[in-house]
Amino acid sequence: MDAGVVFKESFWGQPGWEPPHDDGLMYSGGENAAPFSTSISPAPRGHVPQMSGKNTGKQGGGYMLMKPLVETTQALGVRAEYDLRVQSLVVESDGRVVGIDATRYGKDVYVKARRGVVLAMGSFAFNEEMVRANAPRILGRPAASIEAHDGRAIQMGQSIGAATAHMDATEDAFFCDPQLLVRGLLVNGRGQRYINEDTYPGRLGQATLFHQENQAFLVIDEAAFEEGSASETSSPELLMQPTWVADNAAELEAEMGLSAGSLQATIEQYNRFAAEGTDPLLGKNPKWVKPLHGALAAIDLRGRTGGFTLGGPKTDADSRVLHVSGAPIPGLFAAGLCTSGVCAGGYASGTSLGDGSFFGRRAGISAAQQAKSPDGIAMAQGAAAH
Ligand SMILES: Cc1cc2nc3c(=O)[nH]c(=O)nc-3n(C[C@H](O)[C@H](O)[C@H](O)COP(=O)(O)OP(=O)(O)OC[C@H]3O[C@@H](n4cnc5c(N)ncnc54)[C@H](O)[C@@H]3O)c2cc1C
Repeated sequence: MDAGVVFKESFWGQPGWEPPHDDGLMYSGGENAAPFSTSISPAPRGHVPQMSGKNTGKQGGGYMLMKPLVETTQALGVRAEYDLRVQSLVVESDGRVVGIDATRYGKDVYVKARRGVVLAMGSFAFNEEMVRANAPRILGRPAASIEAHDGRAIQMGQSIGAATAHMDATEDAFFCDPQLLVRGLLVNGRGQRYINEDTYPGRLGQATLFHQENQAFLVIDEAAFEEGSASETSSPELLMQPTWVADNAAELEAEMGLSAGSLQATIEQYNRFAAEGTDPLLGKNPKWVKPLHGALAAIDLRGRTGGFTLGGPKTDADSRVLHVSGAPIPGLFAAGLCTSGVCAGGYASGTSLGDGSFFGRRAGISAAQQAKSPDGIAMAQGAAAH
C-alpha cells in the first residue's frame, strides 16, 4: 500500500475467482468451506487491488498490483533493461555468481552483478520436457502462466548445483464458474461425489486431476442452473451450458454413459439430507444445499483443469538459493514460481503473488546487504545479515 497499491475497504462474498467490481476483500482459498471452516473460524484473506473496467483473466487485480509497483521503482530511479533474454549465470572459479549472460535481438549481453543475482523468471509450466519428467499430470495443459515460464531459471540454478524441491507440485484451476459449481453436484466417472462443491476451485481442480483421473461432471437442476447463470460473476466465459439434459436421474445417467443406478444413488442420498439443509457426506455449506428437483442437466467437465508448476530451487528465509550441500550459493537469490515456494503443499489464490512479493523483497534486501569487493564483485563473506 505504501507503494501506491489501493485496496478498497469492501467485501465481496460471492463464489468466484475474483470480485467482478472493485471490492478489495474476498474469500480466496476455501477458508469459508469444509473442512477448514469447521476447524478455524473463517476470515476472508483474499486482497484484491482496486480496479475499474476489470476483465478477469486478461486484465484483473494483478495488473493493478504491478502498475503502482513498477511506477514506484521508476520514481526511485531504478534502472530497468528490457528485451533481454537471460540465458545463463556467470560464475567465478570459486563458485560465486557474479553476473548473467543474456541475448538482445540475437546479440550477447553480459551483465555484471556487484552484489548478487535474483532469479524471478516464473515456473516451468511451458517447458514440455521438464513437465513430462517432473509434473506429468499437467502435461499439455499449462494455464494461468505465460510462455516465458520455460524453466530456464530452475535449470540455471541446477547447472551450478542448486538443490530442488517439490518439482511435482502444481496449481490446478478448474474451468467452470464457481456460481454454477456451488449449486450443483460434482460427480466423478462413477457418478459419485468426491469433494464439497463450494470449496476453492483450485482444490476442485487438484482433487479432480490428482484423484479422479480428470473425470468430472456437474449435475444441476433447472432452477439452480438458471440462478447460477444469472448471478454476478467475474468470468462469464466459464458459465457453461449443459452437455446433457433429461427428465430424471435415470435418464440422465444413461445419457452420460454412467453405470445404471450410480447417479440415481448419489442424488437420492444427497436429496435425503438436503431436505434438512445438511450434507453429512462432504460438509457443503447449508447455504448451498438444496434438493435437486425436476428436469436435470449435466455439464461435461472432463479435462477442464490446467495450471502451473510450484517446484524449483530450494531457498532459505533470506531467499538465498541453496546448493545440494545445503550451503547457500554465494551471490544467487531467487523468489516466486521459479523456487520451491510456500504454495507447494496446497495452492490457494493469493499464495503465488504473496510468495513472490514477500520473498522477492527478502531477496532484494539480502542481495543489497552483500558486501562489494573493491573491483565491484560480491564477496561471499558478506552474505546476508542474520
Ligand atoms: C489470469 C491469472 C490470474 C491469476 N490470479 C492470481 C491470484 O489471484 N493470486 C495469485 O497469487 N496469483 C495469481 N496468478 C498467478 C500469478 O500471477 C503468478 O503465479 C505470479 O505472477 C508469478 O510470479 P513470478 O514473479 O514468479 O513470475 P512472473 O510474474 O510470471 O514473472 C516472471 C517474469 O520473468 C520473465 N522472464 C522469464 N524468463 C525470462 C528470461 N529468460 N529472461 C528475461 N525475462 C524472463 C517473464 O517474461 C516475466 O515477466 C494468476 C495468473 C493469471 C495468468
